[in-house]
Amino acid sequence: MLTAQTKSGTIFSLGTEHKKETLLIIRDNEEFFCPACGERVSLKLGNQRIYHFAHRSGTVCRDSYEGETFYHMKGKLQLYQWLERQGIPVALEYYDSKIKQRPDIVFQYDGNKYALEYQCSPISEEIFIKRTAAYYEHNYIPLWIMSSKYLKAKRSNVFSLSNFDYFFFRKTKDNHLILPSYCPDEKQFRILSSVYPYSIKNAIANITHHSIHKTGIEEILAPNIINRFSFAKWSMEMEKFNLNWSLHPSPDLNRFLREIYRQNLNLYLLPPEIGLPVNHSLFIQTPSIIWQTYLYIDVLQDKIPKDLIDLREVERHYNKRIFKNEIINRNVPQLPGERSFNAVKEYFHQLERLGILMKKSETGFQLQTKISIPKSNREKEERRNEFCQKNKFFLAKI
Ligand SMILES: [Zn+2]
Repeated sequence: MLTAQTKSGTIFSLGTEHKKETLLIIRDNEEFFCPACGERVSLKLGNQRIYHFAHRSGTVCRDSYEGETFYHMKGKLQLYQWLERQGIPVALEYYDSKIKQRPDIVFQYDGNKYALEYQCSPISEEIFIKRTAAYYEHNYIPLWIMSSKYLKAKRSNVFSLSNFDYFFFRKTKDNHLILPSYCPDEKQFRILSSVYPYSIKNAIANITHHSIHKTGIEEILAPNIINRFSFAKWSMEMEKFNLNWSLHPSPDLNRFLREIYRQNLNLYLLPPEIGLPVNHSLFIQTPSIIWQTYLYIDVLQDKIPKDLIDLREVERHYNKRIFKNEIINRNVPQLPGERSFNAVKEYFHQLERLGILMKKSETGFQLQTKISIPKSNREKEERRNEFCQKNKFFLAKI
């Protein structure tokens, strides 16, 4: 850790740069204590590593900083100094006795109090959720920043994200969903945006790099997002994914495959209108192709043109699928008020733009044309190419 309490109770912070000679003199004349547990801590002034405080061996401190890596301390220190340089009121490792939590950094910005957590090692989902909820309860806005080492592209614009990685998603003022990360070695933020998961683990996304020296807090909280979505890329990745999992399906995928088989559908012959990318799809863990096929079976398949479809009816079917665990929501703790059904509404909006549905009222749609199911691979390919060509312009802007 980078702060400790002195004998007189004041906080001594290593966030401000000190010369080693000064620190050596201070160390000889002062005693330091852990602000969380009150135990004695030692000031470590090694040559290679970052100056820090450490509990003496044998002390049992529940403090979260025990075992923190130098990588973490370095990142935390850089983020603290970065905020301070911008004239933002900021405190390093501020211990809030009311919630018994010590976020890495607390700062005030734009009338809000933020609790910044720079996360370099996996913690349990339970702890993440508990801490985030406590911040909200005590009027902090949580700002979790992931270590960039976890954010690696598998291929260009394809990222593998675990359920835990999705915990880091937050919403910008203009409603973009972003995942911020930071690397102290590169002194650079990496921000993932325009994230469209096509499977439980993989997503198409954009990544932008921002040097800490050229970036202000506003650009991290509300980066300028340019959506460069490629439908052709999405389509290709999903196709590849479908082929993979159908060869080695898990029990829940088997259930899906059996159901579509009963409905005379074939995974390889689904039309391009099923499996569309939508903005809020990351709130649903189940792949888009699956939940959209269920919607097709539940509400679209048996309708004929001019028939009405009410979103409340759609929601009932959707909730039934959730109840049966056929559709699974994803936990995104920093966005507790978000409903995954918004993704379904967005999907209906997409179908409206494609001319399949027409909006009639706040919750009512009318079917205009039936989604036709391809009969052969060749027909499917033709339909897909035609679909991409025809909707190129609007598919690039979701
Ligand atoms: Zn302690």
